[in-house]
Amino acid sequence: MTLEIYQFPARSDNYGVLVHDPESGNTASIDAPSAAEVEAALAAKGWKLTHIFTTHHHNDHTEGNAALKAQTGCEIIGPSGESEKVPGIDKKVGEGDTFKFGKYTVEVLETPGHTLGHIAYVIPEAKVAFVGDTMFAMGCGRVFEGTHEMMWNSLSKLRKLPADTVVYAGHEYTQSNAKFALTIEPDNEALQQRAAEVDTVRAQGMPTLPTTIAAELATNPFLRACEPEVKAALKMNDAPDWAVFGEIRTRKDNA
Ligand code: ZN
Ligand code: FE
Repeated sequence: MTLEIYQFPARSDNYGVLVHDPESGNTASIDAPSAAEVEAALAAKGWKLTHIFTTHHHNDHTEGNAALKAQTGCEIIGPSGESEKVPGIDKKVGEGDTFKFGKYTVEVLETPGHTLGHIAYVIPEAKVAFVGDTMFAMGCGRVFEGTHEMMWNSLSKLRKLPADTVVYAGHEYTQSNAKFALTIEPDNEALQQRAAEVDTVRAQGMPTLPTTIAAELATNPFLRACEPEVKAALKMNDAPDWAVFGEIRTRKDNA
């Protein structure tokens, strides 16, 4: 039996995600945008919460922690790099750490930049990754606490995941990300096509996530900062990858 994953909209533009292992009965909430929305999702699926996997300390990812832990006794796993800011944290994890979720092994990547302690959770056997606010469809998180070089190194770790990895992210920002991406690479045909698809999907009120590493490698300008055609488009042919990333991030911040 394979992992079941249930994504649901939360707050204004967040996504909540439940990961359920039918064999062990374990259910993890990836972050906890709000207790009520996670509870409603659990009730809809008939699943019992056993874990919360926290990606980073921001309130829109941890607000539900305390109430959900009080109600269910779930174990909260979160980033060692900012553990003091994660309500109710039980287990602190960092780069290269692994832990079991049923029979599955969960691997932890440190992806600092948006926050200094931000982590991603990867389940290689299920070909799935939960990246919080490090990467979005055709976008990436704002670099609030770290540096551009740090965030580029974090995105570079995601670049190395198998291309068919399915990626869940924290927010539905895809349509505005696509518009911005087209200002960087107006001639990227994969991007043009994806932007049109996203408009159709959003017009139907449907989510554009999850995405895949393959789709992001082809269309996400932040992940593509190392590509010669992106450097050329920005007249930064000889600049280091992180500086090209930094230029793209700065343009998006000011867009
Ligand atoms: Zn955040
Ligand atoms: Fe967020």
